[in-house]
Amino acid sequence: MKIRPGLAMAVSALAVMLSAPVQAADIIVTNATLFDGTGSDPVKNANIIIEDGRIKGVEIGDTSETATLVIDAGGKTVMPGLINAHFHLFFDFYSSPPVNPATSDETAEAYIRDVMPGRLQSHLEQGITSLFSPIDYAPHIFNLRDQVASGEISGPRLFISGPILMHSGNHYACSGDTDAAKAWCNERISLPIDTPDQARASVQKLVSDGADVLVFDAVSNQETLQKDAFSAMIDEAHRLGKRIVSHNLDARDVPFMLEAGIDGFIHAPSLFRDTDGTLLTEAGKRGLPLPATLGFYQRYIAEGHANSADIEEYETQKHNIELMYAAGATPLFASDMPGLPAPEVVPTVTGVMSGLGLDNKTILLSATRNVARNLLGRDDLGTIEPGQIADLILVDGDPLTDLAALTRVEVVIKDGSLAVDKR
Ligand SMILES: [Zn+2]
Repeated sequence: MKIRPGLAMAVSALAVMLSAPVQAADIIVTNATLFDGTGSDPVKNANIIIEDGRIKGVEIGDTSETATLVIDAGGKTVMPGLINAHFHLFFDFYSSPPVNPATSDETAEAYIRDVMPGRLQSHLEQGITSLFSPIDYAPHIFNLRDQVASGEISGPRLFISGPILMHSGNHYACSGDTDAAKAWCNERISLPIDTPDQARASVQKLVSDGADVLVFDAVSNQETLQKDAFSAMIDEAHRLGKRIVSHNLDARDVPFMLEAGIDGFIHAPSLFRDTDGTLLTEAGKRGLPLPATLGFYQRYIAEGHANSADIEEYETQKHNIELMYAAGATPLFASDMPGLPAPEVVPTVTGVMSGLGLDNKTILLSATRNVARNLLGRDDLGTIEPGQIADLILVDGDPLTDLAALTRVEVVIKDGSLAVDKR
């Protein structure tokens, strides 16, 4: 339909007159000490104005803005919602023995219907407003992401990789007790990359299915690394505009992966201790994203379950992480530990990161801006600035001086709506 120019001008002028002077914002958070996630120092007496799911503005001191809902932060800290860079939603390795709650499409659907809403809500209540799931069952994880995005299920915004790209064969997570369950699991969580053509086809399938970031495993089911297939996989991901990161990777293969263009890591490269830094320093220098997913090891060791091989594996990962952080890798806040009860996520991850010597500001940025930018490739999340998606939390205390404040989340706003209010 075409509108005559004069009429169009009149219509738009009327729209401005109707909307501009009378519209109140949706939410104003007043009297906040604002840690905005940009790297700047916190500012006191901040007002955060939220409208249509976005940050409309940040004003210091008095504001003339009005809103449907005013939340007085009482001088407490307001910061961007937390983003967990690595958590599998369908697995439970936390229980002993580990539980695989889905062994068929029917049980996966039932799990989403009966269990998942409670689990996701629990993560949201901890201030986790986004979560990256690397490896979960397709198509169920794609459906779940859509159900959360539409508001049908309340929970953190999900970013997903879907199945993992790997050499064909059994994936270690497929511990279903029957052959049928194991076959179902492998089919749902992995896509093969045995040849360059197959690697490109699998990447194309993931991208057309809607994966946000692609994830691969380079240690399973092969004697030596199939370099031509991995090169094709990474090239195809980039050709289609997607980032691709490693889940499991031998440290000795990192130089090749850097040459091929890998975008980061969601576990530290393991299996080999890079004692002289020749393998991993370059990845650090490039500032590639790297989480410290050491929580499981530390738990096993603390509970006395770890054998000498476990401890050696832990020490290797820890050494490689420290080396890469020292060289400049970007720390990411990530728990992994599928099945970990949500209230334990923040204390576990901050404990691991502090134990590695990271300062509180680095840890806060690792859970906000840096995971959004460096892993997810999103510049509209992870900071509190005009135009950003309005995901923010109110915490009791100053997490810059006391990380335990992050466990005292009082209010969660996600997508510009009040999602949790514990006050
Ligand atoms: Zn994982």
